[in-house]
Amino acid sequence: LSERLQSAISQVGTGGTITEADLKQMMREIRLALLEADVNFQVVKTFVKSVNERALGSDVLTSLSPAQQVLKIVDEELTALMGGEREPLNFSSKPPTVIMMAGLQGAGKTTTVGKLAKYINENGKKKPLLVAADVYRPAAIDQLETIGRQLGFEVYSRGTEVNPVDIAYDALTQARMQGNEVVIIDTAGRLHINEELMNELREIKLAVDPDEILLTVDAMTGQDAVNVAQSFNEALDITGVVITKLDGDTRGGAALSIRSITNKPIKFTGQGEQLDALEPFYPERMSSRILGMGDMMTLIEKAQKDFDEARAAEMADKIKDATFDFNDFIEQMEQVTKMGSIKDILKMIPGMSKIPGLDELNVDDKDIGRVKAIVMSMTPQERENPDIISQSRRRRIAKGCGQTVAEVNQMIKQFNQSRDMMSQMSNGKTGGMKKMMRQ
Ligand code: GDP
Ligand code: MG
Repeated sequence: LSERLQSAISQVGTGGTITEADLKQMMREIRLALLEADVNFQVVKTFVKSVNERALGSDVLTSLSPAQQVLKIVDEELTALMGGEREPLNFSSKPPTVIMMAGLQGAGKTTTVGKLAKYINENGKKKPLLVAADVYRPAAIDQLETIGRQLGFEVYSRGTEVNPVDIAYDALTQARMQGNEVVIIDTAGRLHINEELMNELREIKLAVDPDEILLTVDAMTGQDAVNVAQSFNEALDITGVVITKLDGDTRGGAALSIRSITNKPIKFTGQGEQLDALEPFYPERMSSRILGMGDMMTLIEKAQKDFDEARAAEMADKIKDATFDFNDFIEQMEQVTKMGSIKDILKMIPGMSKIPGLDELNVDDKDIGRVKAIVMSMTPQERENPDIISQSRRRRIAKGCGQTVAEVNQMIKQFNQSRDMMSQMSNGKTGGMKKMMRQ
């Protein structure tokens, strides 16, 4: 999904102007990308419509960087589609909090019981009690007991002969007596949805009055996951969803559809078989992941906030006229520091994080501090006319800021290089950016 979306968006280009026809083309690409990722048809239709309305209604068409504006709208709409805000677990004010799992066979219920117990325990709730209410296969009980042993949590089990409703009810009574703060009930699934399963789950729900009914769905089942979620929600009025096996699903379609079809929050995602592979679900992070842009949005927002367009244009003129001096150099560096360290910024640009050597690139705040110290011990005249800085002046500057002459030389060399490079770039010579990357 992310590749398709990324290419749809990059087709618009990153600058210049965008026409209504461009926008239409882009929306078509986005729609295809979503459908291909198995996002529900109705969801796609509504989504594309609202992105389109916002894009046309805003000043995207006249804005400085329309592609980024559209990207921002797509990102915000994706986030909204997945619920907007993170929704944490409901804990009862009168412990124990009861969490009941539901889902088809193989969806990941039993594994998720263990993951949740670990997560909840690490986040301050003590002594979760795990309940083995999947009585149809002895192996299911063994599996939960193994998980309990591994984590050091008690498992309540009564073998396969006792009714799961009684097991759940009695486990709750025991938890109250023992002072367990949380009870997590593992239930049986079936290969397909059927009335027998739903009736059993309804009875368990009635018996224990759970604070959470968490449906686990397997992300890899795509559209089916959405249908399953819909049926379970109709039968049980679930409180939330855990999407498992997201580590194996590159398309992410289920996450997009489930929230808007069921109107129930996705609370966690499973990212692997290990018991620590559970992550709280953050709609905006999922959206960035789908867009495949890393933290592109954060970068755009930061840049919008911090960067003064007018000053940037002025700076560009100065570079063109070769009047770029040390005062401008410092100002530019300060702009960059405001936005975060240079390395972090480069990493946020799509594709940049893959560039080899980025981690060795150490332009950090310390370097900027050193550069600033050197510039501060220059006279105002020297700052405005970098070319007059002779050897003897360099020795004086070095003494003034407590750096070695070699360091001063090095910094002036860097300044000259970046001045040359920028004037090349602003004169439109090709390869300027590549050259800058190499350096
Ligand atoms: P249940 O029948 O719903 O209880 O499902 P299980 O918890 O037994 O899980 C079925 C299989 O899916 C097991 O092999 C699990 O290890 C695996 N599984 C569960 N959650 C995840 C996950 O988030 N990622 C991956 N890769 N595998 C998972
Ligand atoms: Mg199970």
